[in-house]
Amino acid sequence: MAALTRLLRASATPSSNCLFSTVVRRGISSLSSEADRKPPSSPPVGPLPLRKDQKERNVQWVFLGCPGVGKGTYAGRLSRLLGVPHIATGDLVREELSSSGSLADELSGIVNQGKLVSDEIIISLLSKRLEEGETKGESGFILDGFPRTLRQAEILEGVTDIDLVINLNLPEDVLLKKCLGRRICGHCGGNFNVACIDIKGENGKPGIYMAPLLPPPECASKLITRADDTEEVVKERLRIYNEMTRPVEEFYRRRGKLLEFDLPGGITESWPKLLRALNLVDHDSKQSAAA
Ligand SMILES: [Zn+2]
Repeated sequence: MAALTRLLRASATPSSNCLFSTVVRRGISSLSSEADRKPPSSPPVGPLPLRKDQKERNVQWVFLGCPGVGKGTYAGRLSRLLGVPHIATGDLVREELSSSGSLADELSGIVNQGKLVSDEIIISLLSKRLEEGETKGESGFILDGFPRTLRQAEILEGVTDIDLVINLNLPEDVLLKKCLGRRICGHCGGNFNVACIDIKGENGKPGIYMAPLLPPPECASKLITRADDTEEVVKERLRIYNEMTRPVEEFYRRRGKLLEFDLPGGITESWPKLLRALNLVDHDSKQSAAA
């Protein structure tokens, strides 16, 4: 693990790292005071002229947020924009299970018994993945779904440096409505959402608007709801998150690495604001808005 840390540290070129930390530090200071309630009157750092420059930077980011908030979507988009891998620990477990890797047998035993995969196994899979990425010349990563507990956050500190932790926030009633509105087409597997969220801003709090994602006519009669998208299950997932993962926010807040981001709505409303908060420019955003 120490070798990995050295490896990752050594890979960060001083110039790109320096530029990046300036941008991030300014991003954090401008946001923590205003908590994204209102856009800063002038951007702390001018828009970056070239996407190429963004790719050259070393990004070691973590996405936090309640289940259903959209971490995977935003982490995926940012990883494509910045040219760094989006690493979801759930995917690492699934990949290892389907491989002939050294942990595959142990993992299938754990998963078949319905047990939770231990922090040690997750960290070991993650370390292996980061090392492989380093060998391939990856310039960073965006983690999604990790660290999930305070203990994992502490272990991660010994494995690699995290520059920035983006905490995506949505009120719980909105999350619940959004999760209960999820539908899948039983025929083509398409994902839709029938919930229309339209909360008016009041008492200085901004409103939240999320348009439904309605299916095309050919799917409309074939929609099914996932068995675990019930109010009871969603509330239980939120309870576990509050108990296990909320302390992780405080862990990174104390280290000055937490960027709070209140989602103003769906991807159309949120993506441009998230980019502004991170001082990034997506030149393809118009073309890729539907992606
Ligand atoms: Zn369909």
